[in-house]
Order: sequence, then structure tokens, then C-alpha cells
Amino acid sequence: MISLDHVDFTRIHASFPEMILKRGWNYYLDRVVSDLTFENATLRAIVGERARYRVEIELQDFPASTCTCHDGDYCKHMAAVLFEALDQGGRSPTELLRPLAKKQPAHFPKESDSVADWPPFFASVIKMPAYNGPYTLDTYVNNGKATLLPLSQGWDLAKKSLYRLHVWLYLMQGVDEIHEQAKGRYLHYDKRWMLEIQQLLENLNQPRIQEKYEPDLLSTIEYLSQHAFPAHDTITDWSAIYGSVWAHLLAHEPWLQAERHRVQAELEQELGFTTAPPEPIRKKSLHQALLHLEIIMGDDRHAMELADAITPALQPSWFFPYLRSFGAQERWSRLTEWLNWMQPKMQSLPPIEQVSYLSFWRQLYERGELAGQAWEQILVDLLPNSFTEYARTLLEHEQYQGWVDLHLFYEVELTALKSEDVKKVEAANLAYMFPLYHQAAERYILEKNRPSYKRSVRYLKKLKTRYKKLKDQLRWDRYIETLSNKYKRYRAFQEELRKGKLIP
Ligand SMILES: [Zn+2]
Repeated sequence: MISLDHVDFTRIHASFPEMILKRGWNYYLDRVVSDLTFENATLRAIVGERARYRVEIELQDFPASTCTCHDGDYCKHMAAVLFEALDQGGRSPTELLRPLAKKQPAHFPKESDSVADWPPFFASVIKMPAYNGPYTLDTYVNNGKATLLPLSQGWDLAKKSLYRLHVWLYLMQGVDEIHEQAKGRYLHYDKRWMLEIQQLLENLNQPRIQEKYEPDLLSTIEYLSQHAFPAHDTITDWSAIYGSVWAHLLAHEPWLQAERHRVQAELEQELGFTTAPPEPIRKKSLHQALLHLEIIMGDDRHAMELADAITPALQPSWFFPYLRSFGAQERWSRLTEWLNWMQPKMQSLPPIEQVSYLSFWRQLYERGELAGQAWEQILVDLLPNSFTEYARTLLEHEQYQGWVDLHLFYEVELTALKSEDVKKVEAANLAYMFPLYHQAAERYILEKNRPSYKRSVRYLKKLKTRYKKLKDQLRWDRYIETLSNKYKRYRAFQEELRKGKLIP
């Protein structure tokens, strides 16, 4: 056991840039610190998997600490060693990650605070629980909400929404930390948390907030730049949060430009890294950030080029929030362009995503922004996942023959059809449904059991009455004779035919 009892981690924390600390944290979680020893107030360890660096940390004279990498004074390798030492010493590594939780006195949130004043308070009142079963996150989030949200009662609405947003950002950060500590053990993650954040952002009064609390918005930009770019896989979808906060709260042209510049610069720096292994997840989150910014700025052409260059490719559902907002704002040409861009990527997607994708096209079609024929072509291209939508459209276009053909082709169970749809088709022409009844009747015969024969006879009776109505008795007689002959060795079927008075 290493004893670190007398080390002041608040001061050490302050020596590290936040980003470096975060990266060190991820190294620690990846378990790449080895050969840790502690002797005469010096910690020694090796850090890294591919490239390996030798770290020496002087706990009594921290600035004298060294690492063999060339990343600068205080590097992520040193941070990783400190986290590992805390862990092995039986203390919580989060003491170094957020020492403020322990040291800063609680300062009750006030309406006149800057948003940056709140996280230290949050940390002082919300305990970070250890893993204690699948619902650890739910307990943490519910407790956090119940404790923190009511504190803004009676505030100006605009400030209140900023407060609520920062409570959520803080809680999601905690969710990630608990998730990391759980090290692969199952944790329930409630999707409604993201929806609540989304709704909060969609409903806030942006112009008023910008008018009254501009410095808070700048702090929020700063906060996101520090926390929304994890170098490690997180359970929280920070890209979605980042995009949504920028789209709804920060979409002010000069800020967008500056942020794009910053992200681009970071990306270039990341790519130019020579001394440390690249961090693909961070690169991916920077790419996604750039994509968000370009879409928000309306630069769709660049955004599509960038999206095409990102590997592995983003799921189309990544873009759905934007498609929804184009629809809500009636920006039909943007919506059309994005849907067209996605089209070639759709075939390989899970059906549920295709159904959402189609709903955007339907919106265009219903608004008269897409010709009926073009809509049908899209539906044909996406069969079979577009089946329900296609069948519905054929009925709307009174293409009953096509509707029947579609069902024949996919051998749809007749019991699955809506009776009102069947009525509509038969009202247009009683004979349209015949092929479907014939198909069903003969399919059931081939199942060769009593219940299926009964079902077959039910459809045959339907056919009989309909042929009669159309005064086509002759054709019916010939059909039933041929059918009965064809299956004359199926005794039970013959019995059912007789019982149904279809043959003498
Ligand atoms: Zn280093």
C-alpha cells in the first residue's frame, strides 16, 4: 500500500491543464500504467502500450517531476500515474480529477451568479456514488435533479433555463464518471435524460438569454470546449449535447465562426501529434463538432463533404434532429438535399431508421414539396422496409391493382389486412381482391392440417359469393372443380369442402 495521506492534490490538480488531466484519466482507465513504485516521496512508473514513457513524480517538489515524453511540463502520463497511485493507495482517483468537491466551501447558487460559479457547488452537495447495482445512475441523476433543480425557484426564466442546463451538463459528467468506474458492469441508462435536455434547449428563449446573459453564454462555450470532447468512450452522447446546445443556445454567427476556428485548430494539432499515440475517439468528436457547426451555419455542402470523409460513417440518425428542425422551419430544399444525400446509405440500415427516414420524405410529399411519382419511387427503392408506407400511398393514390400486387408479392397474411382497406379496394372493383383470396386459399391447403383447411374453405366461400355477385358462376364452378380434383387425395380437405357446401 502506498501512503499519500499528506499530499495536497488540490495544488497538484491546479498545475495540470484540464484537458491533460482528462487524457491522463483515460490512460488510467485504460490500465496502461505499470511498474508503479513509491519510495522516498518519489513515484515511479511506466506509462503507455505502444510508446512507453518513464515517469518520475516528486511529491514533495512537484515541479521537479519528469517524464521521458516531449509533451511539455505536466503531461498526461504524469496525470495517469497520479490516478493509479491514488487508486492503489486506497483513495479515490477522483480526488485529483475534481478536488474542488472536497475543498471549496459550498456557495449557494444565486440568480446573479455566473454559470461558472455553479459546478463547485454542485460537486459539494452531490455525492458521486460508487457502483451499487444497475440503477446506480438513476439514483444519482434523480437525487441530483431533486436537490439542485428547485434551487432556481423564483428566478428570471431565462437565467433559470441556463441554470437547469448546467445542472444537466454537470449530472451527465457524473454519469460518465460512474459509468467508467463501473468498469463494464451493467448500468441502466435512461434515454429520457437526453430527451429532457433536448426539450429544455428547444424551449428556451434564446434571444432574451443572449440579450441579458451574454457572459454566461460565453462561459457555456468554454464549458463545452472542456467537457464535450471526451477522449474516451462515454455513455453520454456528448456530440448530441454539443450540437443541440450550439443549435439552440449559441447559434450566433461570430461565436460559431470562432468555435469552428478553434475546433479546426485542435483537429490539426491532434493530427500533428508525433509523440503520443493518436486518440481516434477525440478526433471523431472534433470532426462531429465541426459537422454540427457547419450545419448550424447552413454550410450544407461543406458539411456533406465532411460527413462523407468521417470514418466510420455516422449513422443517419445522427442527422435526424437537424432534419426535424428543417421540417419544423419549413426549409424544404435543405431537407430535400439532406435526404437525397442520405439515400444511397439507407439500404444497409436497420428498418427502424429507414422508417424514420421515410417519414421525412412523407412530410415533403404531404406538403406538396415532392411529386407523387417521386415519392412512390423512393418507396419502391426502400422495399421491403417501406412496405407499410408504400401500401398506404397506393391506397391514397387509388392504385388498387398495385396495392393488391404488392400484397401478393410479399404473400401477406390476409388476416393482417385492415378490413377498411379491403372494403375500399372491393368497393372500387370486387374482382381486385380475387388473386389474394385465391393465393391464401391454396397456401392454406398446402399446410395440410385440419385448421388450415378450415381457413382455406373460409376464403373459398368468400370467393364463391363474390363470383356470384359478379354473375360469373361459370368461372367459379370450373375453378372449384379443378381445385377439388387437384387435391382429391387430401381427404380432410374434401370433407371441409363438403361441409362448406362448396362441392356436393
Ligand atoms: Zn509524458
